[in-house]
Amino acid sequence: MPAQTHLFPCLKDNFGVLLHDPESGATAAVDAPEAAPVEAALKSTGWRLTDILVTHHHADHTGGIAELKQRHKCRVVAPLGEAARIPLVDETVRENDNVRVGSLAARVLETPGHTAGHISYFFPADKLAFVGDTLFSIGCGRVIEGTPEMMWQSLLKLRGLPDDTRIYCGHEYTLANIRFAKTIEPANAALVARAQEVERLVAAQRPTVPSTLGEEKAANPFLRADLPEVAKLLGLSGQPAWKVFAEIRERKNRS
Ligand SMILES: [Zn+2]
Repeated sequence: MPAQTHLFPCLKDNFGVLLHDPESGATAAVDAPEAAPVEAALKSTGWRLTDILVTHHHADHTGGIAELKQRHKCRVVAPLGEAARIPLVDETVRENDNVRVGSLAARVLETPGHTAGHISYFFPADKLAFVGDTLFSIGCGRVIEGTPEMMWQSLLKLRGLPDDTRIYCGHEYTLANIRFAKTIEPANAALVARAQEVERLVAAQRPTVPSTLGEEKAANPFLRADLPEVAKLLGLSGQPAWKVFAEIRERKNRS
């Protein structure tokens, strides 16, 4: 049976998401920004929390873990490299490890850059990817603990997933990301189309997530740093892709 998801806002601009396996009844929260909205989501869906899958150690992704674990006795899965900074971890995972949520199976992808040990969870049967603060819709996370080259490699890893993979990210930043992306590739038709779609969604007070990887590849400048036309627009023709990526990231930081 296909996985079910339930997305909801947390804190100021974070997303919480529940992943449910109808076959076994297992339900995972991917990250836990704060406990109350997760509880409300469990109540509205009628699902029982069995697991928390953590992408990285930042407080706005882990702040709800202790309270949720105490109440639900759920298993906490976290990246090996960051487990010491995440509360109440039961199981650590690394590249290519398998994580099960009932009968649903995820492969762990190490996607460092935003933090040094950041991981993403890819569920191949359902083509779902939970990418935390590595990839956003039309954006990417700030490179805080890693290097631009490392972040670019992480984005390439995510870019290698199937085009119809649905991308669940950690924040609702899409509108601001689009404003910035238009300064890089103003004539990108896919970006213009995505902008119109996002304006409609925001006006209707609906989330802009998930998008598909194919949509992101067409419109997200951070996934397009190795295209000659993008390098040319930045005056960086012939430079390595990671340097083009670093320039786009740097301009975003200043925007
Ligand atoms: Zn973060």
